[in-house]
Amino acid sequence: MSDQAVSARDLQKHYQMGEVTVRALRGATFDVPEGALVVLLGPSGSGKTTLLNLIGGLDTPTSGEVIVDGQNVGRLQEPELTEYRRDKVGFIFQFFNLVPTLTALENVELVGELAGNKEEAADLLERVGLGERLNYYPAELSGGEQQRVAIARALIKRPYLLLGDEPTGNLDYETGLLVLQLIRDVCDETDLTVLMVTHNAAIGQMADIVISLRSGHVEDIKRNEEPLAPSELTW
Ligand code: ADP
Ligand code: MG
Repeated sequence: MSDQAVSARDLQKHYQMGEVTVRALRGATFDVPEGALVVLLGPSGSGKTTLLNLIGGLDTPTSGEVIVDGQNVGRLQEPELTEYRRDKVGFIFQFFNLVPTLTALENVELVGELAGNKEEAADLLERVGLGERLNYYPAELSGGEQQRVAIARALIKRPYLLLGDEPTGNLDYETGLLVLQLIRDVCDETDLTVLMVTHNAAIGQMADIVISLRSGHVEDIKRNEEPLAPSELTW
């Protein structure tokens, strides 16, 4: 239909806090082409998480539209909204959010079961470099390894979008770069579209497109003709 993976049109999100209206998003308009790696960049409080949650169907807009793969996500009702989140979107978070009582393999299988791809779990863990750690529990894995499990867990859905909210925010510099390289590789090897939130401008240099947010506005949209390899990033 369209080759835009994501189109936002005057997207707004207001939160009512008693008598105060917090305008977390004040009219975001942008397009994301299919297969792109996009960084949503902005300082704390600029609306990044709010925007990612609207795209992921975790929250509904106050006004405006967010279209993903031709579907108007903001207008979806149950059960379509749940199906959208389950089938189309893989999420990775700053704090990994693995189930502590399940092994790496079981964490990925749990989601694979819903998607009907449970048997791919071991291969995916191999793909993210954890072939030797299948039966380790999250507490037995480093932060970087836990985030790799979370990436495998997102990928087993064969999602259309991979959404990351500060996915390296809790990792040390070197480990963060390795996780960013994995995200870049996955984006390049598949037709997945990746949107990754960060407050770190250096990470924007590895993106195909950087959408900068400030105070709920899109301040700037920049294309990198030659994105840097994650190993070339410094901060
Ligand atoms: P970022 O991820 O860029 O730090 P957020 O999207 O989390 O920014 O927040 C943007 C603004 O909206 C902030 O002022 C924040 O306090 C406010 N906000 C976010 N979520 C809520 C909520 N559920 N209720 C009230 N205010 C919120
Ligand atoms: Mg945030």
